[in-house]
Amino acid sequence: MRRGTNLLAVGGFNQAVILDLIRRAPQGLSRVEIAGATGLSAQTVSNVSRRLIDSGIVLEAGKLNVGPGKPRTLLQLEPTGLYSIGVHLDPTVITYVLLDLAGDVVTDHRAPLPANATPDSIIREMAERIAAILEDSVVPHDRVLGVGIAAPGPVDAALGILLDPPLLDGWTRVPLREALADATGFPVVLEKDVAAAAVAEIWTGGGGERDNFAFFYYGTGIGMGLVIDRDVLRGSSNNAGDMGHIRVAPTGPLCSCGRRGCIGELVVPHRLVAEAVETGIIAEGPPASSVDDDFSRFSDVAADGSAGAIAILDRTAAHIAAAVVVITNLLDVDRVIFGGPFWQRVSARVLPTIAELVNADPALISPHPIEVSDSAIGEDVAAIGAGCLVLDHFLSPRPSALLISE
Ligand SMILES: [Zn+2]
Repeated sequence: MRRGTNLLAVGGFNQAVILDLIRRAPQGLSRVEIAGATGLSAQTVSNVSRRLIDSGIVLEAGKLNVGPGKPRTLLQLEPTGLYSIGVHLDPTVITYVLLDLAGDVVTDHRAPLPANATPDSIIREMAERIAAILEDSVVPHDRVLGVGIAAPGPVDAALGILLDPPLLDGWTRVPLREALADATGFPVVLEKDVAAAAVAEIWTGGGGERDNFAFFYYGTGIGMGLVIDRDVLRGSSNNAGDMGHIRVAPTGPLCSCGRRGCIGELVVPHRLVAEAVETGIIAEGPPASSVDDDFSRFSDVAADGSAGAIAILDRTAAHIAAAVVVITNLLDVDRVIFGGPFWQRVSARVLPTIAELVNADPALISPHPIEVSDSAIGEDVAAIGAGCLVLDHFLSPRPSALLISE
């Protein structure tokens, strides 16, 4: 995040602790309970609660009678008190979501990434779109905590720069965080797309069963979001999750690394489309057709029962399963969640095959079965994760959250 102070910086750590407690208690909490749970003095809880109520972030919701004496007033989160915006820059499509303070999607919007447009013009377009979304939703600017943007890696997270994402031509060393902050006037957080997707799963998933999982991201490219002990694994430069060079076939198309059989070349949507066109399963698209459109035609043909298309999907499932075994062995995760902009179109055929192959693989070390599932969040998962990241900075009581503004 950069630029300006925000409510958290003013409110400090105690406020974040209290807000976090209230957020996790949808039925409401009394001031006495908050003081008991946090160890903060009654006076501090009272002062912070008053400030949160005055700011419209928390509301008083009914009374609780606990034996003799005055009934206690319950405090609840006011979801419409604050908002965040999540943006996902995929090489073919830009997704926008407006989230309320509870992390629920108020509205979303998708627009194709214009071919040959410069980063500058796309960043300007993002700012215009964000302004339009806020206007349409009647959300004032001072109620927006910031913008989270998810982008393909590699990124320089410290500087907020996209380094040289392989599928985004012309986006070499683009200072995306600063440029978007300047264009929108909001603080901006930049996160690699796969990590953002994992954040969304943590936020909306809840419950202990999601302590350790991998998120297989299926977009224009592929990647893995990794969550270990409920924390997103980011690595030394925030670029963890690149699994594209795991070799899963002895032959295959030539990869940028000079080898053949790398999963990042074998299973991506444009490769499946190319194979289907080469073998006559689908006709070549019109000259300006997007991977998105071509992939939809391919998945429609597969859904209609084309044996050739189904064979391509079965090979894809086998390749993904082989890589999933390597990753689950390495990290001892017990669950792999699949999602991303292209996933839903092929999941019905591919997911059950992956589940079967992974758990039957003699190379699987895990003493527990690997659970395989679709993301419940849908195609907006990375954008929602980026928006959740902004809320997370604001709501999570951890010392690093205090460094929110630079
Ligand atoms: Zn490779």
